[in-house]
Amino acid sequence: MTLEDLREFALVYGCVYFHPNSYRCATLAAGAALQLVDGVMTGRVRNGLALVRPPGHHSMRSAANGFCVFNNVAIAAKYAQQKYGVQRVLIVDWDIHHGQGVQYAFEDDPSVLYFSWHRYEHQKFWPELRESDYDSVGKDKGAGFNINVPWNKVGMQNSDYLAVFFHVLLPVAYEFCPDLVLVCAGFDSAIGDPEGEMCATPDIFAHLTHLLMNLAGGKLCLMLEGGYNLTSLSQSVCVTVRTLLGDPAPRPANLQGPCQSALESIQCVRAAHRKYWSCLKLAAGAPPSEVSTKRIKLEEKEREEKLQRGEAADSKAGITWPQPQTCVLPPVRTAVVIPEEMACPDGCKRFNLSQHADSLSDNLTVLLGKMEKNEICNGLAVVGDVSMAMAPVIQHATSLKQRVLVVCVGGTEVPSHLPEDGTTLTVHISKEAPEEPSCKYYIPVRLKNSCGDTSGFAQAILSVLLPLAYEYDPALVLLTRLPGSGGLNDGAWQQLVSLLQGLAWGHVLVLVQECHKALVKPTAAALSGSPAPSLGRLPAPVVEDFEALERLRVRLQADWMLLRTSVQESGAEDN
Ligand code: ZN
Repeated sequence: MTLEDLREFALVYGCVYFHPNSYRCATLAAGAALQLVDGVMTGRVRNGLALVRPPGHHSMRSAANGFCVFNNVAIAAKYAQQKYGVQRVLIVDWDIHHGQGVQYAFEDDPSVLYFSWHRYEHQKFWPELRESDYDSVGKDKGAGFNINVPWNKVGMQNSDYLAVFFHVLLPVAYEFCPDLVLVCAGFDSAIGDPEGEMCATPDIFAHLTHLLMNLAGGKLCLMLEGGYNLTSLSQSVCVTVRTLLGDPAPRPANLQGPCQSALESIQCVRAAHRKYWSCLKLAAGAPPSEVSTKRIKLEEKEREEKLQRGEAADSKAGITWPQPQTCVLPPVRTAVVIPEEMACPDGCKRFNLSQHADSLSDNLTVLLGKMEKNEICNGLAVVGDVSMAMAPVIQHATSLKQRVLVVCVGGTEVPSHLPEDGTTLTVHISKEAPEEPSCKYYIPVRLKNSCGDTSGFAQAILSVLLPLAYEYDPALVLLTRLPGSGGLNDGAWQQLVSLLQGLAWGHVLVLVQECHKALVKPTAAALSGSPAPSLGRLPAPVVEDFEALERLRVRLQADWMLLRTSVQESGAEDN
């Protein structure tokens, strides 16, 4: 066709432009996505990002749409199922537009779970579809396998994105247990993008990526979608690739908790899906609709006034944001302090005890010093008594005015010698943990079944520990495994070790007791960057534990905003 014919032909579709080379480019883009799936499924590469144009998530079976010709990700999902017998595929669409093409392709298919967040503004934002709202949950057998999180306001920030991951996507994804994760990786959801108008910084993609890297045994394929501010786009792509390569994620600073509009969306989504997913069973109902309607009218009035004053146009121009911080992976990723008779695990370096430092606490202090100087990223020590070994570590770190996140798994009593002034935050997961928190910075998570119920443990990690940890933003994570954590399987422990590495520039020190020597190998593997094995399809958690976790979450959310999941709970709504 001539350019003139092509222009006319394009009018049939929404928001597309065709050039004589478009077909070739589009087939190359789809082909690149398939090659990436081949690489990951055959184990040639662990994960990857297909940097392709044109994007794909808007296009449909027989219609181009929204700059997209072929639906690269949908085709890749089908291909993985047909060629490699993959049973369950998770598609995470973090582009700021709704990938309606992906939704249409799989809405009646329970083997593909599609998650999308998108600028929606009560159906006023392109593609302005009723079916992009939270109540489109999938059809027939696919009911529950389509998750739409509509953003009804612009300006969403890092906290809003993380809250959706912690309270919607991750619990459901772990319950779904995918064999492969595909991402519609659009970066128009980052700050500075003229289409998205959101305020999440490029750093956030390090965390979104990291949080997906332990699903499906690490089989993760990202395909580029939108992104229209070249500075923001390139920074976001860069931190994403660094994370895929195993570099530590930048610290998630200044998380303020989700805004009211985001909470309203989260509450609606959780309510719409609570009958499909046991992890959401205790979710609150949707907020009363009058609340939303009233607000929309107010917002519209505000917006009109702003437009009249010309503020909307001004606020778009000249947005600036800090460059993402980068951190070079230290020469030693994982140092181990283990008995001489034990072989050094693969990928780790035995930490040579200094001649002069003959006591364990001195050695741990030296190790911490090297982590502070970023000569070592993380460490593992086998000690005679974890409770005793913790004290000097905490003392040393807090003497440097650094916040320490202490995670205790197991143990029969409250660990002593913990400061309560905010220099440490302790999360204690155990069947013997006290029922009530004694202060804002000591949080007992009581699992009746000890840690043997993997579903309950996963829920505790994803919906309680991670939000607390991210909001606290420690400079060091101290993870301890105490006796009395019986029943916790190695896979769940590895998930914990891996997920915590998203914090504190990856500075995680793990202490395990001599009786847990068998944990050295799996722990070292997780610390040195191997993806944790899949937990399998999680059954419904033990009801008692689940209810206790929910009560704890509600009780703590006055102090910890990232634990909030609904508008009523936050209290600000009534005023
Ligand atoms: Zn987009």
